Amino acid sequence: MGEKTKYIFITGGVVSSLGKGIASSSIGLLLKQRGLNVVLQKFDPYLNVDPGTMSPFQHGEVYVTDDGAETDLDLGHYERFIDRSLSQRSNVTTGQVYEAVINREREGGFLGRTVQVVPHVTDEIKSRIRLAAENGEDVDVVITEIGGTTGDIEGLPFLEAIRQFRLDVGRENTLYIHLALIPYIRAAHELKTKPTQHSVKGLREIGIQPDILLCRTERSLSSEIKKKIALFCNVEGQAVIEARDVDSIYQVPLQFHKEGLDDIIVEKLGLICPPPDLEEWGKMVHKIYSMTESVDIAICGKYVHLVDAYKSIIESFIHAGVANDVHVNIKWVDSERVEAEGAGDYLDGVHGLLVPGGFGDRGIEGKITAIRYARENGIPYLGICLGLQCAVIEFARNRCGLEAGSSEFEPDVPHPVIDLMLEQRDRSRMGGTMRLGAYPCTIKEDTLAHRLYGTLEIAERHRHRWEVNNAYRDTLVDNGMVISGLSPDGNLVEIIEVPDHPFFIASQFHPELKSRPQRAHPLFKGLVFAAKALSQSSDDERRASPAMRGD
Ligand code: GLN
Repeated sequence: MGEKTKYIFITGGVVSSLGKGIASSSIGLLLKQRGLNVVLQKFDPYLNVDPGTMSPFQHGEVYVTDDGAETDLDLGHYERFIDRSLSQRSNVTTGQVYEAVINREREGGFLGRTVQVVPHVTDEIKSRIRLAAENGEDVDVVITEIGGTTGDIEGLPFLEAIRQFRLDVGRENTLYIHLALIPYIRAAHELKTKPTQHSVKGLREIGIQPDILLCRTERSLSSEIKKKIALFCNVEGQAVIEARDVDSIYQVPLQFHKEGLDDIIVEKLGLICPPPDLEEWGKMVHKIYSMTESVDIAICGKYVHLVDAYKSIIESFIHAGVANDVHVNIKWVDSERVEAEGAGDYLDGVHGLLVPGGFGDRGIEGKITAIRYARENGIPYLGICLGLQCAVIEFARNRCGLEAGSSEFEPDVPHPVIDLMLEQRDRSRMGGTMRLGAYPCTIKEDTLAHRLYGTLEIAERHRHRWEVNNAYRDTLVDNGMVISGLSPDGNLVEIIEVPDHPFFIASQFHPELKSRPQRAHPLFKGLVFAAKALSQSSDDERRASPAMRGD
């Protein structure tokens, strides 16, 4: 923790889904571009220790950090906006806080005292805020987003902790920012401030007076409305900031800057720093809005009705689109439908296919069918985690002639080309026990992976239990598969490709977790490049291209 570390707390009111994560990330970016060293942190008031055991239907994507923490998807936005890898310290849940407090109690750490929410739970929360600032360098600003909506029972200990925190470190070192909704009532042709007034009132009742209000709105706020909000919420007029709906999340920081948000923050915190350099970011946003060409890429998975489950993948396609000057239209394909109806209806005419990660056997055969269609019809393919495993099964079945599968879905399959790693066999606990976090990978020379990455040593993030079964490696390679990425000890298959194809590659790791707006991930960039090439080739060329079957 630096001597002069400043702390910004971001709360949300009125309703959920107002974009608190994007607002926090945008503030992070603005401060970073003013030369400050920024760390972001999310408090999640649920009792799960981490989201790793929650269904994507409940929670959306689980975002994995380099150090192997399974975290909230907002961490993905944080990393993408501030372009910095965060650690497990950046996601704190009620489950973790209580686990720590109860463990200490069992060890006798409270010396006979009664253990209570105030001060013991709140002390633990405050220690986590400080911990976020201790990462070996001088952190100028810690931005802590408090999940949920003010008024939630679960959120109270966190709000109490941030209230106390101001007393601990001083008013001049803390800032409370509250994001609330100003709804537009069509019948009255009016923007309504009352819900925001109420949510601020709720905060003030527990001792928190917001310093800055971010007002999410679909219409522009007039100066009268701003004045009214300022008066009733007890906030300075200039600190009422309009947060108008925009089409791209990457525009939000630019819009906040126009509203003067970062100037007010640095002024209130007494930070001495230059104005933000937003030139490159602005160019990127301009490109997002001005690209005219587009490609269609299918994502075949089982959570396609809940796009939050694939948040980082969607963002990675935006980054890869910008890098290739093309807009990526995602076509969501339900793997269970492909299983029932075949791939043709869904994949005919698309310029690329991605099969993402997943768990459980639902829709597996549909994914395998889709991959076969892409392989045999020259459709660029990128497989991620389960998408690699399905590609290996497909290849083993249709190119090697094996009755192949994964022991995850069929324990007695004759040829388990995907099998459990040795150290996973005796696991009885589910939470946090997968192969998690960043691992090094060595790339084989002169492969597609080598061309895409332009280097032979990479590190990528994992979240899985099953692996390619080494007993089948020779068979796969003898039949034309290239194993282009391995763990440095040569034991684990990390990347595979099929060379007699315009673009067919799959990774056991999750490349989407490391794609950044201004540094598109090489695998996504490559897929979109190949998709663009396919979309530009005429139908005649497509028909004349060599058969993709290779058999
Ligand atoms: N279910 C597979 C495994 O555990 C794949 C996991 C994933 O796609 N993230 O290995």
